[in-house]
Amino acid sequence: MSSTFNILIVGALFCILMLLVLTSLLRSRLPGIREWCVANALGCVALVLYAFGLELPSFIAYEVTNSVYAAAAAGMLAGFRLYHGRNPLWSQLGAGVALVAASIGLFHYAYDSYAMRTIVVAVFQGAICLAIAMTIVRARRDWSSHYPSLFTVGMAAIITLGHGIRSVVYLSHTGEVTSLLQPSPWNLFFVSAGTFVLPVLTFGAVMLVHDAMLAKAELVANRDFLTNAWTRRAFFEHADRELLRARRSGRHMSVLLLDVDHFKKINDTYGHAIGDAVLVDLVRRAATVVRSIDYFARVGGEEFAVLLPETSREAAAVVAERMRTVVAQSGGDKGWSKVPVPHYTVSIGVSSARGFESLQDLLRRADAALYAAKAMGRNRAISEADVEA
Ligand code: GH3
Ligand code: MG
Ligand code: MG
Repeated sequence: MSSTFNILIVGALFCILMLLVLTSLLRSRLPGIREWCVANALGCVALVLYAFGLELPSFIAYEVTNSVYAAAAAGMLAGFRLYHGRNPLWSQLGAGVALVAASIGLFHYAYDSYAMRTIVVAVFQGAICLAIAMTIVRARRDWSSHYPSLFTVGMAAIITLGHGIRSVVYLSHTGEVTSLLQPSPWNLFFVSAGTFVLPVLTFGAVMLVHDAMLAKAELVANRDFLTNAWTRRAFFEHADRELLRARRSGRHMSVLLLDVDHFKKINDTYGHAIGDAVLVDLVRRAATVVRSIDYFARVGGEEFAVLLPETSREAAAVVAERMRTVVAQSGGDKGWSKVPVPHYTVSIGVSSARGFESLQDLLRRADAALYAAKAMGRNRAISEADVEA
């Protein structure tokens, strides 16, 4: 058994392994996984055919084997394109595979040259890897974390370079290498590296899928399904961290507690669906007032909390008043929600962090201010100072 034969068989086994790993990810329903599965299945078939090349009729060993391997690479690219929400370009990829088959035929029947057949394969595979790298780089705005994308781009770029070098080496040694299974050092190196191209790219794909699944799970845990505001859980985690930071840096930090006025009446008068629309409307209106560093969360049914880092109580009172005003403009035809909502108002309590007090104490004072706002007739923003005065 030649070492090249062994390497090709190990590569085929790796493709099966990656196929099994990908199968476990199918339930995520993310696009591209099916195409990566097909690509690895085709890759496995092609590597086995390469390994037994000497025992096969030349048409199968050359035209069929190289076309199957080209189709596997095309499947990988289609998977990456679909994963990033782009058109898989099936017809262009099909044409590319057909061109590979025709070129192999040319350098088999018309002008028999192993080196030229290898160059055809290397140029096609290199182009595919370059396209994979470019697909991922173009989608950089959507990367949920950098490592899986950078890994895949880096690997695809290295493989492109490898195919480029292989083409140059074979062009300058056209007469010397006559078979894939020939144990020359260059041949051995390229076969070893080339055999693991599909598994390596699939590793990248698997990491991307894992990352997307994790980001989705985090989103479900941290974002309120109805309004897309942060959840109560996310708010408490974030607020604890911000409070520590404010203490360390000696900077101000304030919170607002908002509660929709007479919300039960809105539900009773217009129905629960309109009640829900009011909550969506409220979050959209509030978003026009808060800064990007502020943290707006739904902490109860119709209760919201806003964390304002680096904000004094006076500044927080101004934000609260602005928020109250923008909400009190509801009920017009401005269309902040998909369905028209009736006029509604909010009451707001404001408090600001003091020394080493706990988050619970800070929220308790905001709640007391909110309670006072309700008692004073609703539709108003009250600061803790007003309650204490
Ligand atoms: P107040 O001005 O004193 O705040 O009066 P209120 O009617 O808003 O007071 P209360 O807190 O008693 O009422 C809250 C209501 O919010 C009760 C509950 O049915 C409703 N609610 C809670 N969560 C949701 C929700 O997700 N959607 C809708 N439509 N209603 C909700
Ligand atoms: Mg309430
Ligand atoms: Mg209420």
